[in-house]
Amino acid sequence: MKKISVFSLLFTLLFIVGCSKDDSKDNGDSPSSIPGNNLNLGASAEDLLGNDIFQNLEVEVVYPDGFQPQAQSLENLKSFIQARTFKTKVSITQREIPAPNSAPFSIEEIREIEENNRTAFNDETTIKIFVFFANGNSANDEGNQFTLGTAYQNTSAVIYQKTIQETTSGLTAPNIVDVETTVLKHEFAHLLGLVDVGTPLQSDHKDPESDGHCITENCLMRAQAEFASGMIGMLEQGETPNLGAACNADLQANGGR
Ligand SMILES: [Zn+2]
Ligand SMILES: [Zn+2]
Repeated sequence: MKKISVFSLLFTLLFIVGCSKDDSKDNGDSPSSIPGNNLNLGASAEDLLGNDIFQNLEVEVVYPDGFQPQAQSLENLKSFIQARTFKTKVSITQREIPAPNSAPFSIEEIREIEENNRTAFNDETTIKIFVFFANGNSANDEGNQFTLGTAYQNTSAVIYQKTIQETTSGLTAPNIVDVETTVLKHEFAHLLGLVDVGTPLQSDHKDPESDGHCITENCLMRAQAEFASGMIGMLEQGETPNLGAACNADLQANGGR
């Protein structure tokens, strides 16, 4: 008799645990088994490339008045994501936010802006990316070295839109869509773990002088793509840069398309 009651108590406990799990799902809380949005750069490379955990990908773009990216640039980013990942659905949302006034921005300040404005976080089906189009320069700019973008966390990037606007104003070529597109693709490829930042190398193409970059001629992941003068140099060659064969092979080996 005693044994039976212990058994039924255990059963009741299990039943309660089972119920409370279901309840938390009903309340919309993300189950703790889902990887979060607050991890190091490259930590979600595999989750972004494949569709084992997340079938869909959503990009949340925010910008202050006057710094909205061109619609075509976001379309180009979407095509790039569809070409390189196995996601079933890729979507991009855009929203204007109040203009932060702390420019030039350090990465600490960019993280604070994300904290105050990000609304999209991973759920059971969708991994979510935050991109801030900044109304100011990077605090790391020195001399004539102007940073165009930085991927600073597993699902977060900043595009220095004011710098892009200044870089392209008065130029007939390269145009702003080409520059925005290339910077967006470059930063997104860092989130995908390139080069050797979460996606392991399949061949020796890593830039020994610049973390996360590639030495292949004309590759999207060349270090120079992150800076205004280097970017203009690349775009003057003609086509907007794409990933070279070595970078693509790395992505494919880590679950990419
Ligand atoms: Zn880079
Ligand atoms: Zn490359």
